[in-house]
Amino acid sequence: MNYHHIEQLPENNSVWQETLNWQPTSQQIEQFQKLYELIIIGNQKLNLTRIINPEEFWEKHLWDSLRGIKFILENQINLPEEKKVIDIGTGAGFPGLPVAITLPQYTLTLVDSTRKKISFIETILADLNIKNVLTITNRVEQIGRLFQYREIYDIALLRAVAPTVVCAEYALPLLKIGGIAILYRGNFTTDEKANLPEVVKLLGGKIETIEEFKTPLSDSIRNCIYLRKVGKTPINYPRPVGVPTQKPLRDVKNL
Ligand code: SAM
Repeated sequence: MNYHHIEQLPENNSVWQETLNWQPTSQQIEQFQKLYELIIIGNQKLNLTRIINPEEFWEKHLWDSLRGIKFILENQINLPEEKKVIDIGTGAGFPGLPVAITLPQYTLTLVDSTRKKISFIETILADLNIKNVLTITNRVEQIGRLFQYREIYDIALLRAVAPTVVCAEYALPLLKIGGIAILYRGNFTTDEKANLPEVVKLLGGKIETIEEFKTPLSDSIRNCIYLRKVGKTPINYPRPVGVPTQKPLRDVKNL
């Protein structure tokens, strides 16, 4: 396949406006299109995503990535200076790459444990001339236990990485006090809600809000869970590699 056969993404400017009170610039539209083309090409070798149709890519990869940061986009006028953002388990770069394109004044660190995914992202960064992204190939439990990454980020993003309590254990140690973790989820079950407040509290956070909404083209249900870091995370979290998923904190008695 070459570039010429890849379809155009829909612009959907009125949808951006109505749902996020924001619209991409022409340069951002070009970058989104190029990102789409590179993912389609990369997908032939790397099996990065099953979402290849342009409308679906727009909705499930672009719109969904930016819906999580709606509260920032809505306040673009008083946009704060720089912020440090970490995208944990970024895969092919979601939600981190659309966020980096949208907020060039922020610095994004994209983390994944799979070397080939991070190598692919590095080719995208060069092709799109994206300057505000750093990459790390490592398990996030490892990163969270290293002094130089602890409590330095303003925002942590996690989409489709692990159960909610596990995401909380990955994200909260990395956040500054006052920072926010944004957990992108499909359905958010009652089962997942159980114990979440206690687990988040143990890790130095609180549940700020949970937003349930539908995606604008296909009406699919989504949830974004916002966790605020309010105190220091005890030094024993995150637990060593693999433990957060093998023994999720919700199963630990007497938290
Ligand atoms: N966030 C992307 C998205 O929504 O399209 C990718 C989701 S994919 C289902 C989950 C990704 O998280 C995989 O690329 C996997 O390698 C990564 N991952 C899972 N657990 C991880 C961990 N403990 N540390 C680092 N990366 C992890």
